[in-house]
Amino acid sequence: MARLRPLRLPRVCVAVTASEPGELIEKAESLVRDNEFLEFRLDYLPRPASGLAKIKQFTESHPHVAVVATCRRSVSGGKFRGTIASQLDILAKGAAAGCQLVDLELQTATRMKPQQLQRLRNAAAFILSYHDFRATKDLERILEKMVSVPADFYKVVTTATTLYDNVVMMKFIEKNSDKYSLVGLCMGEQGIISRVLGLRAGSIFTFGAVSQDERTAPGQVTAQELRSTYRIEHVDAATRVYGVAGDPVSHSLSPAIMNAALQRETVNGVYLALHAKSLKDLLACVREIPIHGLSVTMPYKEAVLRYLDNTDPYTLKIGACNTVVRAQDGKLYGFNTDAAGVVRPLQQRLELENSRILVLGAGGAARAAVFGLKERGAEVYILNRTPGTAQKLARSARARTIKRADLKKLLFDVIINATPVGMGNTRESPLKEDEIKARYVFEMIYDPPETRLMALAKAAGAQVIPGIEMFVQQAARQFEIWTGKPAPVEEMQRVAILTLQDREVARQRKENTQR
Ligand code: NAP
Repeated sequence: MARLRPLRLPRVCVAVTASEPGELIEKAESLVRDNEFLEFRLDYLPRPASGLAKIKQFTESHPHVAVVATCRRSVSGGKFRGTIASQLDILAKGAAAGCQLVDLELQTATRMKPQQLQRLRNAAAFILSYHDFRATKDLERILEKMVSVPADFYKVVTTATTLYDNVVMMKFIEKNSDKYSLVGLCMGEQGIISRVLGLRAGSIFTFGAVSQDERTAPGQVTAQELRSTYRIEHVDAATRVYGVAGDPVSHSLSPAIMNAALQRETVNGVYLALHAKSLKDLLACVREIPIHGLSVTMPYKEAVLRYLDNTDPYTLKIGACNTVVRAQDGKLYGFNTDAAGVVRPLQQRLELENSRILVLGAGGAARAAVFGLKERGAEVYILNRTPGTAQKLARSARARTIKRADLKKLLFDVIINATPVGMGNTRESPLKEDEIKARYVFEMIYDPPETRLMALAKAAGAQVIPGIEMFVQQAARQFEIWTGKPAPVEEMQRVAILTLQDREVARQRKENTQR
């Protein structure tokens, strides 16, 4: 057969699974319009050979689609429990049914005779694969072992337990991809960097899932996300890398809105969710990948300060940094854009000079609000669960503290909730209805989109400013710092709200199916 040349393969292969052949083909049919490269995971079928007739019909009616047949054995992380001989038989029949590629794991290949492998290779392009479900290590030694088996593609899939494992994987691909046709990536939530940037390191293709619920490997991103959120087809050597770093980070809205902003403003950049279990790990990646800009989130906003080469005095005063820029010279500069996230939505609604503003809380977000508002001439009051912390902040920002008992007597232009009370539920509120005497109530929490405090504020006659506005405005300021361009705020807000709504729908669907 004519060997498949790597350059002819699309860059994203979608792994398709199903529990019966009709469903497998139905899924494939719904995917082919956007995806010209599919992997049929035959091992997910209770009887893998039962899918072959339908696969033949499919490949005949879609000759432009590249199809991989895989029947991974359970000892290698798949679901097939048959013998090696029956696995080989299924793959050979898969090739006869029109699959141009077959995937066989190293563990099996080393137990086969060279003639058996050659027969398979005569029938289809041969992907020899290796999976490590625990770690990313010994890559050179593994490749050495793999290349003793003649194959068309060598696929090395490991597990990232640190962000730096992605660097290890990408250096490995860069070093070896001119000698061999390599496919390399790291599984796991921390493997996202290699899934998106692996192609530019030299991986021939990468893998995407059909949907969030149908992932065939941990941390797999959907093919749709790889294309539309991360614009993987456009990632090249000049693409600047940005990311949100924290622990945890998987629920961050930042990748959705920042990638949308980069796309809208035609910036050649990609923005990733970086699950950093330590700052040391994160900073090593910032230097090696390199990463040009970071959104820093919990729990690193304070701790990151001492690793920066420079910060503006304002960020030092706040004592927390949520934005890092890596300059041309490799130096790291820190900023705090949470203050802009509070100030901008308020400036759009009222004159801040001499306005009376109450901030609930005295943590990082409250500090950004207090300093940002004081700078604009507002009269700022602080109320915190721990009075000592409020007093300390008030002293350093020249603000005032109040007692909760005084709330009913005091009138404010704005009350800002900078505590986590009300996050993730609609029951809790930091204030009671009769304690809300203000024209505006600014809620920093954005999940749920309408908190108990917001409902009480409306009942008390106040106008509410939802937390998503702060989130979008602090992100907009980051975008401006990194790119020097005005941020497409409306587009960012639209994507943020849409993403929250999608999540709510998914959450409800999950609850309904669990009932
Ligand atoms: P933080 O540094 O941990 O500070 C939390 C503050 O809330 C502290 O002052 C703490 O008081 C107080 N607090 C915590 N639990 C409380 C409770 N059960 N009752 C009363 N007060 C309580 O957190 P942060 O980073 O400032 O974040 C605060 C909130 O703002 C979070 O909900 C966060 O999600 C939100 N936020 C939103 C955005 C956005 O873009 N929309 C950006 C940043 C933060 P003590 O001093 O007594 O511990």
